[in-house]
Amino acid sequence: MYKEMQSFLWTETILQSMEDAVVAVDDEIKGVFLNRAAQQLFGAKNGITAEVFFETLTPSQLKDSLIKVIRSNKRKKIEIEIKRSGILFYYAVILVPIKENGGGRPGCVAVLRDITEKKKLEEMQSEFLNMVSHELRTPLTPIQVYSELISGGKCGIEKAREYSLIINREIKRLGALIGDVLDLSRLEAGKEIPLSREHNDLISIICEVKNTFSASAGRHKIICDCPVPVKVFADRDKISQVLINLISNAVKYSPEGGSITIKAGESAEESFFSVSDEGIGISSENLKKIFDKFYRVQDSKIKSSAGGAGIGLSITKRIIDLHGGRITVKSEEEKGSEFCVFLPKKENTKEVTENGKEKNFTG
Ligand code: ADP
Repeated sequence: MYKEMQSFLWTETILQSMEDAVVAVDDEIKGVFLNRAAQQLFGAKNGITAEVFFETLTPSQLKDSLIKVIRSNKRKKIEIEIKRSGILFYYAVILVPIKENGGGRPGCVAVLRDITEKKKLEEMQSEFLNMVSHELRTPLTPIQVYSELISGGKCGIEKAREYSLIINREIKRLGALIGDVLDLSRLEAGKEIPLSREHNDLISIICEVKNTFSASAGRHKIICDCPVPVKVFADRDKISQVLINLISNAVKYSPEGGSITIKAGESAEESFFSVSDEGIGISSENLKKIFDKFYRVQDSKIKSSAGGAGIGLSITKRIIDLHGGRITVKSEEEKGSEFCVFLPKKENTKEVTENGKEKNFTG
């Protein structure tokens, strides 16, 4: 008897310690058991009658499924949504019939697991796919229109030059986005972004990228404030990708135009460059999240035509981390933003991996 009692208490302790919510009802739908997690979830006390519990139970889908399983004697899997303090949570529910066993009542037991995080990630991924396909399609229109104008042969040499620079810019942007997506899929697969670091002149990389934007910057004026050559030990293509991401954002998030200033310089230890704009800026709340994967600020000031897949800055940060560098951002709403990238000059640098550990990096 003592042993049975101990085993009963242990079972009770296990059920009460579970993170998943457990709800059980008897076959007459009179008695109901709720473990601690279920009591919190439904705001009900264990020991209330099933009648009272069912009266207040939302969603009714759970009540219906409990009854169905008792009647059919077959297990069932469902997904339900529950609103708590105004926030929607998602639960995967497994309902299993309880068979009569040594005096215990038959009925049904339901285990509810919180899958809100997983659901949100799935939603973000499908939103991301829509964004990426839209972003990949967008540059194709100007490329087609301007190449047709050039091949029509009526636009004159000056215009043809201007149009070809626009085509070039769109191709570069397309390349940077494809680069971001490939880098992201590598990181998702647990692989690292490959780097090929060489001694480069940072100013020549900046000028190359700037020229592709300048021809068709429209209302934006791109100023390059980089007086002297600046040595950098970096992957040229990856630094171009970072610059394209930062300049594209400066253009996108300065809908009224204004100046975009690129600066560069060096100290004994580091080379640096910055991209600043006079755009809509970023609130301090959002500043903490902009380097997160898929994060996009939801703001009425941002036109839907601005586009974006929410990966540019997360990849940018990863590329800079891999170089052993750092990126900082200063921003004020309605005034503008400044992104500053610092890259170490030494060939052997310490690099912080995604899980926060340091690893030696030999350039
Ligand atoms: P996206 O493709 O949405 O531009 P990013 O990862 O490049 O994705 O940027 C993340 C978010 O950071 C953007 O959605 C935008 O809200 C904000 N952001 C980035 N750069 C700027 C900027 N220069 N000015 C204002 N907001 C910016």
